[in-house]
Amino acid sequence: MDDDDVSARKGSFRKFLEHLSGAGKAIGVLTSGGDAQGMNAAVRAVVRMGIYVGAKVYFIYEGYQGMVDGGSNIVEANWESVSSILQVGGTIIGSARCKAFRTREGRLKAAGNLVQRGITNLCVIGGDGSLTGANIFRKEWSGLLKELAENGDIDREEVQKHAYLNVVGMVGSIDNDFCGTDMTIGTDSALHRIIEVVDAIMTTAQSHQRTFVLEVMGRHCGYLALVSALACGADWVFLPESPPEEGWQENMCVKLSENRARKKRLNIIIVAEGAIDTQNKPITSEQIKELVVTQLGYDTRVTILGHVQRGGTPSAFDRILASRMGVEAVVALLQATPETPACVVSLSGNQAVRLPLVECVQMTQDVQKAMDERRFKDAVRLRGRSFESNLNTYKRLAIKMPDDQIPKSNCNVAVINVGAPAAGMNAAVRSAVRVGISEGHKMFAIYDGFEGFAKGQIKEIGWADVGGWTGQGGSILGTKRTLPGKSLEAIAEQMRTHSINALLIIGGFETCDRIKQSASGTKRRVFIIETMGGYCGYLANMGGLAAGADAAYIFEEPFDIRDLQANVEHLTEKMKTTIQRGLVLRNESCSEHYTTDFIYHLYSEEGKGVFDCRKNVLGHMQQGGAPSPFDRNFGTKISARAMQWISTKLKEAQGKGKRFMTDDCVCVLGISKRNLLFQPVAQLKKETDFEHRIPKEQWWLKLRPLMKILAKYKASYEVSDPGQLEHVHHRGHEEPAAI
Ligand code: ADP
Repeated sequence: MDDDDVSARKGSFRKFLEHLSGAGKAIGVLTSGGDAQGMNAAVRAVVRMGIYVGAKVYFIYEGYQGMVDGGSNIVEANWESVSSILQVGGTIIGSARCKAFRTREGRLKAAGNLVQRGITNLCVIGGDGSLTGANIFRKEWSGLLKELAENGDIDREEVQKHAYLNVVGMVGSIDNDFCGTDMTIGTDSALHRIIEVVDAIMTTAQSHQRTFVLEVMGRHCGYLALVSALACGADWVFLPESPPEEGWQENMCVKLSENRARKKRLNIIIVAEGAIDTQNKPITSEQIKELVVTQLGYDTRVTILGHVQRGGTPSAFDRILASRMGVEAVVALLQATPETPACVVSLSGNQAVRLPLVECVQMTQDVQKAMDERRFKDAVRLRGRSFESNLNTYKRLAIKMPDDQIPKSNCNVAVINVGAPAAGMNAAVRSAVRVGISEGHKMFAIYDGFEGFAKGQIKEIGWADVGGWTGQGGSILGTKRTLPGKSLEAIAEQMRTHSINALLIIGGFETCDRIKQSASGTKRRVFIIETMGGYCGYLANMGGLAAGADAAYIFEEPFDIRDLQANVEHLTEKMKTTIQRGLVLRNESCSEHYTTDFIYHLYSEEGKGVFDCRKNVLGHMQQGGAPSPFDRNFGTKISARAMQWISTKLKEAQGKGKRFMTDDCVCVLGISKRNLLFQPVAQLKKETDFEHRIPKEQWWLKLRPLMKILAKYKASYEVSDPGQLEHVHHRGHEEPAAI
């Protein structure tokens, strides 16, 4: 990397938020409605970002109840009051349902309490109920202030000074039941809990040849049920948005027995709490169990997961999501003008966006209305493109069409794993194989990467062969790191022998699994952790964000001895306060000479008398273990999309009798901003730093200042992606979902 490159990279971080001063402003933050993992991370981000830009931030305890009651329920927060909460589930500022806030009288009291403290910016973390309440409050604000003045509770000057209330919402809900965001805060953690249970149950069900009926939360939204079904390859799923067709009882039993006939020793049926039939009558877990027992005589058990799904620590994904959203919420509040409508900050693909709160709430309510009126197709469509794509993928992968109904393509497609094994690879293979079969191709598996390919380790693979693969870690096909370079001839020979028309390669330079890291609070201690990734600092950076690290050293952002010195001094100062834990991440190849040992010794020496240090090299444990729900689904969906793309290309080629290769025949599929993108390898070549095996532009570098800001550094943060308000409806459904 040359110097220009380095300064350009460093320079891009230096765009300060100077034009966005929070001086003289006060922000109130509250959590309301059902709690969700990750709410604390959101609160932390709001408090720290607020303080960072010079605003005052107030905790409002116990949701709207605290706002109505005032007094000690509204307390100014400081930097340290949100220390060590990132990894804690639930919400430390409490959540409650509040009847009083539903009345104007209650809201009048609440307004009085806010004005008293000069709070005219509100950040509400909750579900659609809470956000609706916030919007009503905002609309009534000037009227409420007038009334307070008439009652003599506040004077005219205060009415003028606090004339507008800015409202920004973040959706905290494990159900992912809110339109306008791909993921609500808490959903991914809930999925983690569910998948842990499903994995555990699958082992016992396997031993006893049992059928398990698993009930998951979601009274009005089938997201958790659908995605867990995708992530564990369930036999059947019941959702409120997409009730089973008439006669489902028989169809389901046929499917279960077919699967058993394929030597599957267990069945998993997932039921959303609010599952209904086409007549809107509830379908209960017990009812399903009775059906399986009487019709098939299988040993069948029901497990209702209940509140376990809300519990536990938030996942890395939720921590990062909530941190990003919290920072974005503060920026949105500071940018708000009297004309800006209340907005929700949300996630679209991989981007933070702002949407009008009213539109999101309206659409969320429209889904319910559609279900009530039995317009189920509309309900699915209104849930958004990501939900729709999940449902289509599930149907495609779970139910095999009879052979005679699949038009044959006369194409042979092979699947291969290369590079380091990564969690989610098997899910990707399963999905590719099944989608390929349903598109009429003959599917082949190649074992042991390119090395195996050259030696002819290639075999046809069928629908049932990949059953149960979603939850398995590592690579079942086997993978080798060897590049095909030397054995190209032999590989070409194998392609000819087996008449392979297309090849799906699953792997990458350094396929990154996500990292979960939570150093627990011991006495004044700094943990120095080394993460994997070759030259790619993604794990160190995102792990740092998820764990609230004080520094994360990565190759992409060069650092020198002055940076190290500044970090050590910063940490030493910090540890002199009530904060007792420090976390420093170091990507394995971030620097040739500033090794993990060096950094460990430096911090140990400089921190003498203030803190002690521990170091830990995470090593291969990062690649091990069962894949997370995100990786299972991502693997599944991205691979299904890749297979469809291959089919289209094969069809095009057949039509034209084309036998030569063009650049756009060799693509890498990835997610870019909001969409899945097929990028020709030839083009990627230009965008890749081959020496270090990383892309020249890394999207996540943009999130780097976030970690620093939240760790109290003077870093700059580029204001949100587009920054402006968008519309829910304008995000066309014809566009395919990103993830
Ligand atoms: P969620 O936010 O998870 O959807 P609720 O619907 O129970 O949960 O709402 C939480 C709280 O938000 C309620 O207890 C109430 O205080 C407030 N709230 C909900 N809907 C309204 C509304 N229409 N008007 C005023 N406040 C509301």
